[in-house]
Amino acid sequence: SINLDGKIAIITGAANGIGAEMARDFERRGARVFLTDVAAEAGEATAAEIGANAAFMRHDVSDEAGWPAVFDQCEATFGKADILINNAGIEVTSFITECELDDFRKLMDVNVAGVFLGIKHGLKWMSVANGGKGGAILNLSSMSHVISSPGFGPYGATKSAVDKLTKVAAVEAGALGAEVRVNCLYPGIIATGMQDKLGQDLLEMGVFPDAQALQEYVIGRTPLKRTGTPADVAKAAAYLCSDEAAFITGVGLSVDGGMALG
Ligand code: NAD
Repeated sequence: SINLDGKIAIITGAANGIGAEMARDFERRGARVFLTDVAAEAGEATAAEIGANAAFMRHDVSDEAGWPAVFDQCEATFGKADILINNAGIEVTSFITECELDDFRKLMDVNVAGVFLGIKHGLKWMSVANGGKGGAILNLSSMSHVISSPGFGPYGATKSAVDKLTKVAAVEAGALGAEVRVNCLYPGIIATGMQDKLGQDLLEMGVFPDAQALQEYVIGRTPLKRTGTPADVAKAAAYLCSDEAAFITGVGLSVDGGMALG
């Protein structure tokens, strides 16, 4: 199995869901994990559950002034980070005609500006010019970048932006003098609190008549005939952040059971 021995990973939005599972998974593979989130109580609890190889710091990814402190604090605790996962994100499912501008701006702030800032500071931090040692940055895009379903205009737009930031960052990293790989994931339907809310929103919007119809639609469209788990995403993340993927940069990897194919 994939080995992350000796790696130090910063994971944003790691209090819950996919981020928390990536933190647990990476620690089991030998990494030390530095968790950040706006949800301080849950973040502290997740780090405590993982144990001595985990630490938590409260940080809002859309707050630029706080980013240098994330790297400083990680270095003081575990040493220089060689993995950054820009995982924090929020979800608003809404028809474009119904979406309030404030909600759209909030999505852009967390999902796009948050990832932009992580890449901006992560690339500088990991590049030789700034005393870094190179590394891997992984961003959470989404299947909603790949497909265009009703209700996913605003959210999907943020995830398409994450895809573009990933690819341009992978190219620009080449000029920074250190080997920094930048990739992203396109998760499909993954069982988390965010997914529960999204399902509820689709029912309220009338896209599906009831929860059973939604479930049948998802399973019917998914070649692997099930929804995903945070552990499915964590395994793909571990691969892309490991030395096994040493020559892979600028890619987006679907983790969706094949749902986006048909
Ligand atoms: P989640 O809601 O379970 O967890 C997201 C975490 O991010 C929470 O702990 C939350 O407190 C934190 N967060 C929110 N705003 C933040 C901010 N401004 N700064 C720091 N932390 C913040 O969601 P999840 O399902 O685990 O999603 C994780 C990532 O994966 C997101 O980027 C999401 O868009 C993406 N994704 C999820 C799915 C899915 O089906 N669950 C599918 C595709 C992509």
